[in-house]
Amino acid sequence: MSTSGIIEEIREKTDIVALVKEYVPSLKKAGRTYKARCPFHSERTPSFTVSPDKQMFYCFGCQSGGDVFAFVMKAENMSFSEAAQKLARRAGVQWRATAMTDEDKLRLELKKALEFAKSFYHEQLLSSPGAEQARKYLAGRALSGSTISRFELGWAPADFCSLVNAARRQGFSEDILYRAGLAARGANGIRDYFFGRVLFPITNHMGDTIGLGGRVLDPQGQPKYLNTPETPLFSKGKVLFGLSQAGPAMRKGGKALLLEGYMDVIACHQAGIDWAVAPLGTALGSGHATLLRRYAPETVMMFDPDDAGLKAAVRGAAILMDQGIYAGLVTLEDGLDPDEYIEQRGREAFEKKLGQTQDLLNFQARLILSRHEGEMSKREKTSAAAELAQTILRQPDAIIRSEWVKDAAHLLKIEEDSLRELINRSQPQQRYEAESPQAREQALPAVDQREDDLLGWLLKAPQYLALAEDEQVLQCLSQSAAALVRAMREALDCGVAEAALAADLASRVPELSGLVHRLAVQDVPHDFDAAHSIAECVGNIRKQGLKSKLQSLTFEIKEKAARGEDSTALKQEFMRIGLLLKSSRVNKEHI
Ligand SMILES: [Zn+2]
Repeated sequence: MSTSGIIEEIREKTDIVALVKEYVPSLKKAGRTYKARCPFHSERTPSFTVSPDKQMFYCFGCQSGGDVFAFVMKAENMSFSEAAQKLARRAGVQWRATAMTDEDKLRLELKKALEFAKSFYHEQLLSSPGAEQARKYLAGRALSGSTISRFELGWAPADFCSLVNAARRQGFSEDILYRAGLAARGANGIRDYFFGRVLFPITNHMGDTIGLGGRVLDPQGQPKYLNTPETPLFSKGKVLFGLSQAGPAMRKGGKALLLEGYMDVIACHQAGIDWAVAPLGTALGSGHATLLRRYAPETVMMFDPDDAGLKAAVRGAAILMDQGIYAGLVTLEDGLDPDEYIEQRGREAFEKKLGQTQDLLNFQARLILSRHEGEMSKREKTSAAAELAQTILRQPDAIIRSEWVKDAAHLLKIEEDSLRELINRSQPQQRYEAESPQAREQALPAVDQREDDLLGWLLKAPQYLALAEDEQVLQCLSQSAAALVRAMREALDCGVAEAALAADLASRVPELSGLVHRLAVQDVPHDFDAAHSIAECVGNIRKQGLKSKLQSLTFEIKEKAARGEDSTALKQEFMRIGLLLKSSRVNKEHI
């Protein structure tokens, strides 16, 4: 079977609603579509929509959208063929390896280079005389030999070119080493990206090595931690260190332990607490939350109790909460890191700590109380209540929300009713995560509501396309709307079936694909009657166009008169359009 045949077969055998539900369990039916809070950006009210009719998804918040392939690509950070292979397995469709694109070949080459680098660095750590300092450092952190092999830790020699030279001998090109984030470009060609560092291989959830994190040993060395730069494989907002090792235990126990650094994660795993992961030198974001939610509905966040740590934890817990993950917060006393705590006080004491989590509201409330000595003044209570109201407002679970009102009222010693009143008057304001700049750049072309309706309905009933193809109507439409009408005609003339129309249009006019995805998930009115609704909409658009034409003619005629010029032609045009407008009103009676 040809590649496109395989793709079509996968499409036929994959239901987008069932697929999305595997990633977004909260997806709920709402009219003819399904809705949930978006897995791709942080939001409180659901604007992520899936249309079973069109087999498409679209988010009105971040404007991501597409078909089953686009969904998996985005959710898994995969290329098209990787997503297609995954969907093929899921649908029981035989996949043929010949269907590799250039992008896939590149990703495969990058993975090979990273795999080579990981083994090279691991070998260096185990046996190179130059790695003595690194071996001492790891022994000093109480890591056993088997832990070092399990995480395949490595050592990057300090001479700038060990890896590049070894990789060249194995036939890896400079370009691949550079694009894998293993080499940097210098004045005299490429050199190693990592040198003089202990290395921590970073894998995706499938266990592929996609990057490295490095800790410098020289106390003067900067920066202390260095990760692979962003590459086609590695995006630090979507990776968690330790995920491939912790994944099975997270699934089994339904819980993830979220720590701050590589060493914390490794120390926990060595102690048998094998459900620990950490983000890579970046604040927790919605990409991490999406990843976590696929493994466990609950996350325990452990962090430094200093000011920065507390702020980051509250912010992170709110992001997890937005995505429906239950977050429990816990800190360790006496300024100990998890690895120090386990070493000094033992695994049991540490596990006991993990059982003493607080939810976000209680944690925040106690934090506020701890800042005040003695009784809070009325004004202090008001501002504390306002701060907690924001957290309560963000909680998507109604039962937890009402429990939180009780907890907050009790802790602040205020009336529940007045807190409820405050919450009802508050608007959710603080966004912990800004909309991505990409989302803003991809803002949709301007199309007004009437055009939106028309295009959406035509997508559902393309047999009435001719109604919109009138030159007069096309002139009244915005450029993008008119372009879409023309593209629909092209598609229909090519024999594209109604069910495949949206997907076809998205690839036929890629610059309008965002618009197409949005239209495809748009709901129709309850009493939708395609012929009538489309004709009425076309009539209204035509009328609106004629009216604005009349307005501008009136203006031009006045201007000409003011300049003492002849305006006969304009007046005739005015009459003609006036008549058209009148007849369009009469015509409406016949529809
Ligand atoms: Zn979104």
